[in-house]
Amino acid sequence: VTDQTHELSRRSWVESANYHPSFPIQNLPFGVFDPGDGRARVGVAIGDMILDLAAALRSGAFDQDLAALAALVDGDALNPLMAAGSRVRKALRRALSAALAEGAPATTIALLAPVLFNAAECRMLLPSRIGDYTDFFAGIHHAERAGAIFRPDAPLPPNYKYVPIGYHGRASTVVVSPADVRRPNGQVAPINGSAPSVEPSQKLDYEYEIGIWIAGGNSAGEPVPIDQAADQIFGFSLFNDCSARDIQRWEAQPLGPFLAKSFVSVTSPWIVTAEALEPFRHAQPSRPAGDPQPLPYLSAPLDQAEGALAIDLAIHLRSAAMAEKGAPPVHVAAMSALHLYWTPAQLVAHHTINGCRLNPGDLLGSGTISGLTPESCGCLLEQTLDGATPIALPGGETRDYLADGDEVIFTAQCRRDGFVPIGFGENRTLVVSAI
Ligand code: CA
Repeated sequence: VTDQTHELSRRSWVESANYHPSFPIQNLPFGVFDPGDGRARVGVAIGDMILDLAAALRSGAFDQDLAALAALVDGDALNPLMAAGSRVRKALRRALSAALAEGAPATTIALLAPVLFNAAECRMLLPSRIGDYTDFFAGIHHAERAGAIFRPDAPLPPNYKYVPIGYHGRASTVVVSPADVRRPNGQVAPINGSAPSVEPSQKLDYEYEIGIWIAGGNSAGEPVPIDQAADQIFGFSLFNDCSARDIQRWEAQPLGPFLAKSFVSVTSPWIVTAEALEPFRHAQPSRPAGDPQPLPYLSAPLDQAEGALAIDLAIHLRSAAMAEKGAPPVHVAAMSALHLYWTPAQLVAHHTINGCRLNPGDLLGSGTISGLTPESCGCLLEQTLDGATPIALPGGETRDYLADGDEVIFTAQCRRDGFVPIGFGENRTLVVSAI
C-alpha cells in the first residue's frame, strides 16, 4: 500500500534529493556510516547527504515517541532497528519523510541541517552485524544455464521447481562496497589424470544477486507462515556473491559450494526498505505451463499477487587499462529481478519450515539473476559460456573471467508511471591479485 511518502509531488529541502537517481525523498534507505571521526552511526540517505539518525531524533525536531526511537539507532549497526519490526520502521519513515519534505517548518530544518553529512566525505560500513548468511539459487535462467555447463546431463535438478534451493554461506566474509576482492587460491581439478594443483583461481566471477535483510526473525522451532513472511524482511541491497568457478567445479561434488564462495561477498551499503519498494511490487510472473504450482506452505494469494519486485539491474565493468585511459565503465549486462522463480517471502517461509531460526540482521542472497539472452546474464560463467565466448571490452581487451584490476559495478533502478524512480546506489568490487 502506497501513502504520502511515495507521492510523486513530494520534494525535499535537501536540494540534491530532487534530482538524485537513487535517493530521492521517496526512498530513504538505511545504512551505517562514519563521517570521518571514527565513530559509526546509523544514517539515512537523502540525495547527496546522509542524515545522522540518532542525532536527528534527539535534535528536538520530532515528538517524544519518535525521539525515544533514538535508543534503537544509537549503535554501529541496524540490528536493533531491524528487530523492532515494520510498525516502528513505517512510523519512522513517515516522520522522516515529513521532516525532510519541502514545506517542513523552518524550526525543523534548522534542527536537522546540522546533522546532515556530505555522503562523499563519509565512509560506509556494513549495515548490520550479520549472524548468518544464506545463499539461494532462485534465478531459474541462471540455474538452467549454469547447470548446463556444470552438469550437461541434468542442467536443472529435479527438485528445483519444488524447493527454493540454498546453502549456508559464511557471514564472516560479507563486506561492504566499495570492496577489494583478492583473487583466491584454491584446489583445482587435475589435468590429464595428474594430481590437483593449488593455484590462484583463473576463473574469478561475479554473481549479481539481491540481498534480503531479515527484520523480526522467528523463534527456534517456529516456522514463519508464508502470509507473514514478507513482514520479516527489513529491506534489500545489491549483492555480489564472488565465485571462483575452477575451484567450484572441483570441490562442489557432492555437498555444493564451499571455498569457491566463502572468500568474499560484497553488499551495497544502503538497505532500501520494503516500504520504499511498495510502488514497485509486482505479481510473481506465472510459471510456464507444465510447471508444478508451489506447495501450500509456499503459496499465499497476496504474495503471488504482489510479492515479486520489479527492479532493473545493470552490470558495468572497467579494466585497469580502461581506468588508466580515463575511459568510463562499459555496460556488460542488464536483467530484471522478475526473473526470480521464488519471491523473497517464499525464501523466508522455506528457510524456516524446519524451525530454523532467522535473526534480525541476517542476510539472504537471492541467487544469481539472469534473463534469457547473453546480454542479460548475472555472471560471466553464463555470459561467456565458461570462457568459450569472451566479451569484448573497449580498447581491444577481452574477458572470459575477471582480470586483476577489473572493477565490477552493479546498479539498479525501480521505475513505474506515476512514481519517482528510486535506486540502490552502487555495489563496486575491485579485483586485486592473489597473495
Ligand atoms: Ca550465489
